Amino acid sequence: MNTNRTLAILKPDCVRRALSGSVLQQIENAGFKVCALHMVQLSRERAEGFYAVHRERPFFNDLIDFMTSGPCIPMVLEKPNAVEAFRTLIGATDPQDADEGTIRKRFASSKAENIVHGSDSPENAHIEIAYFFGDHGSIPVDIS
Ligand code: ATP
Ligand code: MG
Repeated sequence: MNTNRTLAILKPDCVRRALSGSVLQQIENAGFKVCALHMVQLSRERAEGFYAVHRERPFFNDLIDFMTSGPCIPMVLEKPNAVEAFRTLIGATDPQDADEGTIRKRFASSKAENIVHGSDSPENAHIEIAYFFGDHGSIPVDIS
Protein backbone atom coordinates (compact mmCIF):
# COMPACT_ATOMS: atom_id res chain seq x y z
CA MET A 1 0.00 0.00 0.00
CA ASN A 2 1.40 3.38 -1.05
CA THR A 3 1.02 5.63 2.00
CA ASN A 4 2.53 8.64 0.22
CA ARG A 5 -0.53 9.52 -1.82
CA THR A 6 -4.03 10.76 -1.15
CA LEU A 7 -6.99 11.86 -3.24
CA ALA A 8 -8.28 15.38 -2.78
CA ILE A 9 -11.21 17.11 -4.43
CA LEU A 10 -11.71 20.85 -4.60
CA LYS A 11 -15.49 20.75 -4.30
CA PRO A 12 -17.99 22.80 -6.37
CA ASP A 13 -18.21 25.56 -3.73
CA CYS A 14 -14.43 26.02 -3.96
CA VAL A 15 -14.52 26.39 -7.76
CA ARG A 16 -17.68 28.55 -7.71
CA ARG A 17 -16.25 30.98 -5.13
CA ALA A 18 -12.97 31.27 -7.08
CA LEU A 19 -10.97 29.83 -4.18
CA SER A 20 -9.19 27.07 -6.10
CA GLY A 21 -5.94 29.02 -6.40
CA SER A 22 -5.88 30.01 -2.72
CA VAL A 23 -6.63 26.48 -1.53
CA LEU A 24 -4.09 24.94 -3.89
CA GLN A 25 -1.51 27.45 -2.66
CA GLN A 26 -2.11 26.35 0.94
CA ILE A 27 -1.84 22.70 -0.12
CA GLU A 28 1.47 23.33 -1.89
CA ASN A 29 2.77 25.50 0.94
CA ALA A 30 2.15 22.54 3.26
CA GLY A 31 4.57 20.47 1.20
CA PHE A 32 2.20 18.41 -0.94
CA LYS A 33 3.18 17.74 -4.56
CA VAL A 34 0.38 17.66 -7.12
CA CYS A 35 0.82 14.48 -9.22
CA ALA A 36 -2.42 14.68 -11.20
CA LEU A 37 -5.31 17.12 -11.46
CA HIS A 38 -8.28 17.80 -13.67
CA MET A 39 -11.59 19.63 -13.63
CA VAL A 40 -14.72 17.54 -14.06
CA GLN A 41 -18.49 17.93 -13.88
CA LEU A 42 -19.65 14.85 -11.97
CA SER A 43 -22.78 13.02 -13.10
CA ARG A 44 -25.13 11.87 -10.33
CA GLU A 45 -24.05 8.29 -10.99
CA ARG A 46 -20.37 9.12 -10.60
CA ALA A 47 -20.93 11.20 -7.44
CA GLU A 48 -23.12 8.45 -5.94
CA GLY A 49 -20.43 5.88 -6.68
CA PHE A 50 -17.78 8.01 -5.02
CA TYR A 51 -19.83 8.57 -1.84
CA ALA A 52 -21.53 5.11 -1.87
CA VAL A 53 -20.55 4.53 1.77
CA HIS A 54 -22.93 7.37 2.73
CA ARG A 55 -25.89 6.04 0.69
CA GLU A 56 -28.09 5.38 3.74
CA ARG A 57 -27.29 8.68 5.49
CA PRO A 58 -30.02 11.36 5.70
CA PHE A 59 -27.81 13.94 3.96
CA PHE A 60 -26.97 11.69 0.99
CA ASN A 61 -29.29 13.36 -1.56
CA ASP A 62 -28.18 16.84 -0.54
CA LEU A 63 -24.55 15.71 -0.78
CA ILE A 64 -25.09 14.43 -4.33
CA ASP A 65 -26.98 17.60 -5.31
CA PHE A 66 -24.04 19.64 -4.04
CA MET A 67 -21.30 17.54 -5.61
CA THR A 68 -23.06 17.73 -9.00
CA SER A 69 -23.90 21.45 -8.71
CA GLY A 70 -20.86 22.54 -10.71
CA PRO A 71 -17.38 21.46 -11.72
CA CYS A 72 -14.96 20.13 -9.14
CA ILE A 73 -11.21 19.41 -9.24
CA PRO A 74 -10.01 15.93 -8.18
CA MET A 75 -6.28 15.66 -7.64
CA VAL A 76 -3.63 13.22 -6.47
CA LEU A 77 -1.34 14.61 -3.77
CA GLU A 78 1.97 13.21 -2.60
CA LYS A 79 3.74 13.63 0.74
CA PRO A 80 4.95 11.14 3.35
CA ASN A 81 1.96 9.87 5.35
CA ALA A 82 -0.25 11.79 2.92
CA VAL A 83 -3.71 10.76 4.14
CA GLU A 84 -3.20 11.78 7.74
CA ALA A 85 -1.20 14.89 6.83
CA PHE A 86 -3.91 16.07 4.46
CA ARG A 87 -6.76 15.39 6.90
CA THR A 88 -4.86 17.52 9.43
CA LEU A 89 -4.43 20.29 6.86
CA ILE A 90 -8.13 20.40 5.93
CA GLY A 91 -9.56 20.14 9.47
CA ALA A 92 -12.84 18.72 10.77
CA THR A 93 -15.83 18.05 8.47
CA ASP A 94 -17.75 20.93 10.06
CA PRO A 95 -15.71 24.15 9.72
CA GLN A 96 -17.04 25.30 13.11
CA ASP A 97 -15.18 22.37 14.68
CA ALA A 98 -12.04 22.76 12.55
CA ASP A 99 -8.76 23.98 14.04
CA GLU A 100 -7.57 27.53 13.36
CA GLY A 101 -5.61 27.82 10.13
CA THR A 102 -7.02 24.68 8.52
CA ILE A 103 -8.43 24.93 5.02
CA ARG A 104 -12.00 24.29 6.13
CA LYS A 105 -11.75 26.78 9.00
CA ARG A 106 -10.39 29.45 6.67
CA PHE A 107 -12.62 28.91 3.65
CA ALA A 108 -15.64 26.64 4.28
CA SER A 109 -19.11 28.05 4.85
CA SER A 110 -20.86 25.00 6.35
CA LYS A 111 -20.62 21.29 7.09
CA ALA A 112 -22.30 20.55 3.76
CA GLU A 113 -20.28 23.02 1.68
CA ASN A 114 -16.85 22.37 3.11
CA ILE A 115 -14.55 23.21 0.18
CA VAL A 116 -12.46 20.06 -0.02
CA HIS A 117 -12.48 16.27 0.22
CA GLY A 118 -9.63 14.15 1.58
CA SER A 119 -9.37 10.35 1.63
CA ASP A 120 -9.78 8.88 5.13
CA SER A 121 -7.37 5.90 4.86
CA PRO A 122 -4.54 4.70 2.57
CA GLU A 123 -6.84 1.89 1.37
CA ASN A 124 -9.57 4.36 0.39
CA ALA A 125 -6.99 6.70 -1.14
CA HIS A 126 -5.92 3.85 -3.43
CA ILE A 127 -9.55 3.17 -4.43
CA GLU A 128 -10.40 6.85 -4.88
CA ILE A 129 -7.28 7.60 -6.97
CA ALA A 130 -8.27 4.75 -9.28
CA TYR A 131 -11.83 6.12 -9.37
CA PHE A 132 -10.70 9.39 -10.92
CA PHE A 133 -7.31 8.65 -12.45
CA GLY A 134 -7.38 4.92 -13.21
CA ASP A 135 -7.98 4.26 -16.88
CA HIS A 136 -8.89 7.71 -18.14
CA GLY A 137 -5.54 8.35 -19.77
CA SER A 138 -4.64 10.68 -16.91
CA ILE A 139 -2.04 8.80 -14.89
CA PRO A 140 -0.44 10.44 -11.84
CA VAL A 141 3.15 11.35 -12.62
CA ASP A 142 6.16 10.47 -10.48
CA ILE A 143 7.41 13.87 -9.33
CA SER A 144 9.82 12.88 -6.55
P1 ATP B 1 -15.06 14.16 2.79
O1 ATP B 1 -15.31 12.66 2.69
O2 ATP B 1 -15.84 14.97 1.79
O3 ATP B 1 -13.59 14.47 2.82
P2 ATP B 1 -15.35 13.99 5.63
O4 ATP B 1 -14.58 12.71 5.50
O5 ATP B 1 -14.78 15.05 6.53
O6 ATP B 1 -15.59 14.66 4.22
P3 ATP B 1 -17.75 12.43 5.73
O7 ATP B 1 -18.35 11.93 7.00
O8 ATP B 1 -17.02 11.47 4.85
O9 ATP B 1 -16.84 13.69 6.09
O10 ATP B 1 -18.94 13.12 4.90
C1 ATP B 1 -18.79 13.34 3.50
C2 ATP B 1 -19.35 14.69 3.16
O11 ATP B 1 -20.77 14.68 3.36
C3 ATP B 1 -18.87 15.84 4.04
O12 ATP B 1 -17.66 16.40 3.60
C4 ATP B 1 -19.97 16.84 3.89
O13 ATP B 1 -19.85 17.55 2.66
C5 ATP B 1 -21.21 15.95 3.82
N1 ATP B 1 -21.80 15.76 5.14
C6 ATP B 1 -21.37 14.94 6.13
N2 ATP B 1 -22.15 15.03 7.20
C7 ATP B 1 -23.11 15.92 6.89
C8 ATP B 1 -24.25 16.44 7.59
N3 ATP B 1 -24.56 16.05 8.83
N4 ATP B 1 -25.01 17.35 6.93
C9 ATP B 1 -24.73 17.73 5.68
N5 ATP B 1 -23.68 17.28 4.97
C10 ATP B 1 -22.89 16.39 5.57
MG1 MG C 1 -15.08 11.19 4.12
